[in-house]
Amino acid sequence: MRSIFWGRFRVSQPYRGTSHKGLDMVGVDSKEIHSPVDGIVRSSTIVTDKSDLTWEWGNYVRVDDAQGIRYYMCHMSRRMVKAGDVVKIGDVLGIEGNTGYTTGPHCHLEIRPGGGGSASLNAAEIMGIPNQLGTYTAPRPAESILTVSSGQWNVRYDPNMTGRIVGLVKGGASYPYTQIRDGWHRIPLGWIGPKAVAGYTSAPSRTYTVRKGDSFWKIAEEQLGSGARYGELASVNGMTPSDTIYEGQILKLP
Ligand SMILES: [Zn+2]
Repeated sequence: MRSIFWGRFRVSQPYRGTSHKGLDMVGVDSKEIHSPVDGIVRSSTIVTDKSDLTWEWGNYVRVDDAQGIRYYMCHMSRRMVKAGDVVKIGDVLGIEGNTGYTTGPHCHLEIRPGGGGSASLNAAEIMGIPNQLGTYTAPRPAESILTVSSGQWNVRYDPNMTGRIVGLVKGGASYPYTQIRDGWHRIPLGWIGPKAVAGYTSAPSRTYTVRKGDSFWKIAEEQLGSGARYGELASVNGMTPSDTIYEGQILKLP
């Protein structure tokens, strides 16, 4: 079985061909929706124009696999990927929600063959999930422990350097993580705040948080091993060495 929810989930409405073209699932242990395949995000959007029936899907993400088969994950409360993103099976695409045409929070998973058209495939069969109401358990990757040796690592909502910083993990501490993507560690945000479900962090070698009294020269000396690299440091941040830096500012390191 592969599932868009890890741990326990419910099937709240089976796939029934033309009368219900997807499989409705409700996360029990977690509301995070994971990519069912390796692929490319082709849509991450919400349609509000009700003359377009796609509005019924609310916030939805479409991922196409290597064969062009289209996976639609619908009704999300929050989308965490954007069109063009390359995703691996298990990557978090968004959070279960109640947007669009629904009678309660769930994810409508619809799978369509490549080549366009609105014909659907049997999502339950493809995913190996029983096509009947019930609660099932999908395997979840084992948790490992991430130890932050020193410094502090920024935590972001999304695993890229432009994602909003929502917290810090401190050196000397250990955190469970369940996923790595391009060097990013996914950690439960319970560590840093109650609102979000998960955050991402990566080794801080690529960023530096400016401290009081810092200058490009001093940071280059300490972080890059040579003060003479101050111009390069400014440049990768889209600045010139004469620009002012501020305490708390996050700089990329070359
Ligand atoms: Zn449905």
